[in-house]
Amino acid sequence: MSAALKSMPFDIAKIRKDFPILDAQVHGKKLVFLDSAASAQKPRAVIDAMTHVMEAQYANVHRGLHFMSEKTSDAYEAVRDKVAALLNAASRDEIVFTRNATEAINLVAYSYGRSALRPGDAIVISEMEHHANLVPWQILRDQHGVELRVAKITDDGELDFASLEEQFADGKVKLLAITQMSNVLGSYTPAGRLAAFAHERGAKILLDGAQAVVHRRIDVQAIDADFYVFSGHKLYGPTGIGVLYAKAELLEAMPPFLAGGDMISSVSYASSTWARPPARFEAGTPAIIETIGLGAAIDYVQAIGFDAISEHERRLTDHALAVLSDIEGLKILGQAQDRGGVISFTMAQAHAHDIATLLDRQGIAVRAGHHCAEPLMGRLGVSSTARASFGLYTLPEEIDALAAGLNRIKQVFGG
Ligand code: PLP
Repeated sequence: MSAALKSMPFDIAKIRKDFPILDAQVHGKKLVFLDSAASAQKPRAVIDAMTHVMEAQYANVHRGLHFMSEKTSDAYEAVRDKVAALLNAASRDEIVFTRNATEAINLVAYSYGRSALRPGDAIVISEMEHHANLVPWQILRDQHGVELRVAKITDDGELDFASLEEQFADGKVKLLAITQMSNVLGSYTPAGRLAAFAHERGAKILLDGAQAVVHRRIDVQAIDADFYVFSGHKLYGPTGIGVLYAKAELLEAMPPFLAGGDMISSVSYASSTWARPPARFEAGTPAIIETIGLGAAIDYVQAIGFDAISEHERRLTDHALAVLSDIEGLKILGQAQDRGGVISFTMAQAHAHDIATLLDRQGIAVRAGHHCAEPLMGRLGVSSTARASFGLYTLPEEIDALAAGLNRIKQVFGG
């Protein structure tokens, strides 16, 4: 191992002790978990925070004038402040809790898409979107008459700005909905540049931050993002809680997505009026326990610091690219200049599903398939890839174990 890798920006051995699952054995081997981009493991602080709400102070939020309800409501609402600080939002009221990034995008497509966009307007996405940032816009296209356009990526897996220019050329584009980091190629897109690009052409921008928020400090004001979405479960928090950030003036003008309790101002049989955002977009009993778990996850990553997290990811990625490139027959998909800890690859000797199954026998968890990005697979000329992805607990030795595992597979398949 190189000296640079030995001196990681934080004490990983200590971090790993915070994640109980990392001691697990799989098929009699020590777990090597390289699937954090699908969902990250949870630190003890998150598990404890969720257990604590249930054991010590659980009640429904925003409803009861009793001790437990007030305590839980305070804990729940405090997470809104934590998320606002995480994203550097101008106001806590710009933070809407959703179930996940997917629901946040659907909320925008349904509410903003059907109220602010007109038939004939166009939406641009890129060739490297997760289905979550494609299918909701397809439905909007089919039901509301907007056009859906796709900006190309280069062979290196970067956004092709010439293609983006072309998509915007006729002035019809009103929304650019784009990932900040590809869950397949690991490529980052230049969020601030894209926001300026969209705004100069009279469009809004939605950034899918499901992957990026895990690895980098996000500043929605510096980016000038109109909408920003992410999921708690990839950020070391629980499932069932996600976030939509939107600028206050946009949320104010948006009609509800889901309707019912908590999102109203008044209700009669004749008509109802809506609460102000963010309550307007949080119908029904929310994911109270999960939200509090997300708050603990945010505290956890903030305590480590995003400078250290980004630096760790950079060193791991450089190491992984170096060791994987040495394996004959292995092809890494995506060579973006600005890329992070998600590496998709194919092997001449074995199918992606065989790779994942055989690695699993060695205790190594990677993902195989189309990664919810079928059109991107078509663009790359493959039907599936294997994907290794890293979290803040990932060790360089685990990447070495992956490389050794792949070399063994190569031998099994006679490569
Ligand atoms: N966007 C990207 C880039 C993702 O990687 C994912 C999940 O893999 C999503 C959106 C959807 O996230 P979720 O399934 O948590 O809604």
